[in-house]
Amino acid sequence: MLDDTHQFLESAATRLGLSNEVLAQLKRADAEHIFDVELSDGQSYKAYRVQHNHQRGPYKGGIRFHPQVNLDEVRTLATLMSLKTAAVGLPLGGGKGGIAVDPRQLSQAQLEELSRKYAAALYPHIGPDKDIPAPDVNTDATIIDWMVDEYEKLTGDSSHASFTGKSIEKGGSLGRDAATGRGGVLALEELLRLDKADTKGLTVAIQGYGNVGSYFGTILQERHKDWQLVAVSDSEAALYSEKGLDAVRLQEYKTGRGRFKAYDEGGTQVITNDDLLALRVDVLVLAGFEDTVTKENAKTVHVPYVVEMANGPVTKAAYDLLSAHGCVILPDIIANAGGVIVSYLEWVQNLQKEKWPESKVNQELASHMKRAVEETYHYAQQEAISLKESAFILALQKLTETSRL
Ligand code: GLU
Repeated sequence: MLDDTHQFLESAATRLGLSNEVLAQLKRADAEHIFDVELSDGQSYKAYRVQHNHQRGPYKGGIRFHPQVNLDEVRTLATLMSLKTAAVGLPLGGGKGGIAVDPRQLSQAQLEELSRKYAAALYPHIGPDKDIPAPDVNTDATIIDWMVDEYEKLTGDSSHASFTGKSIEKGGSLGRDAATGRGGVLALEELLRLDKADTKGLTVAIQGYGNVGSYFGTILQERHKDWQLVAVSDSEAALYSEKGLDAVRLQEYKTGRGRFKAYDEGGTQVITNDDLLALRVDVLVLAGFEDTVTKENAKTVHVPYVVEMANGPVTKAAYDLLSAHGCVILPDIIANAGGVIVSYLEWVQNLQKEKWPESKVNQELASHMKRAVEETYHYAQQEAISLKESAFILALQKLTETSRL
């Protein structure tokens, strides 16, 4: 994944005529914090925070709890964050953190201890004007609240602006939970409008029905009564219904820890994850993990539009194959930027001691998204390049404009 990201970065840098020195700098992170978090039961977990680039503002990016977290992954995701914040015009840099842990194996008390110790180990390096972490895969407002609490105890800061994705009571923003999913739907709408696509009866499949995927589904259904969500999946299985699925019901099912392989309600069919990728739908939403569509399974994907809601869900080789068949891929650094856009709005509210109504948050989110998609689309048209190339070039341009390199 790091190689793939660097390849996209290299070709964007070449187009912009950036020197090798600048490119090397962009591939390197400013700082990498690697440490072990040891719990009182003696178990120890590898933890990371990579601070990639802060030319546009404080480092920004989530913290992921997952057994597969490793330095290369965190480096890649941190790099993508720098590009993402630049792509959507936020005055922020890029970073990412993670702990190699399966949080489902931990008790609530162990999870709290892990979260607090992670924040305690990092506190000198983070803060409202240095690095502002947020949730990512398997981390949520409860975990972030523990981290903020720990940070504030150690530093005396009381702005709550050291982390975003907090609960509303602890200074979180309305709309943050749903923001990544909502941003994705708004980005897709804008793309389809610019592309003059016929959206009547549009069919959609969502691979990965977790926080991001399920909000994508419910918001899509709320905004487009005539579009049809025909398939969704989790890590074990997928559900399919030709007549359309109920996004809200399935979100409740997943929140209650239900597993799709055991779902048997109202005429839905259990299919495999591979089957889902091969469905002839209009829009395939990839909201799981990186490297989901690869050179191997790309041959089975036949859809006009792919939305990258995960970071890097289509490998470079798969991307080339899909693009060659005319598939339009809405790139991750735009499609899933809704989360960090509303994180930025949360940070602004904290610093200004304000609490905005959800309608204002959503309006700001929509205008950031619309602008980013429009800019990316028009530049892609003008240069006859893909949306991914366009997004990377524009992001890199903004990043190096403000750079002291
Ligand atoms: N984890 C999210 C991302 O990958 C959000 C980051 C943030 O809000 O800082 O974009």
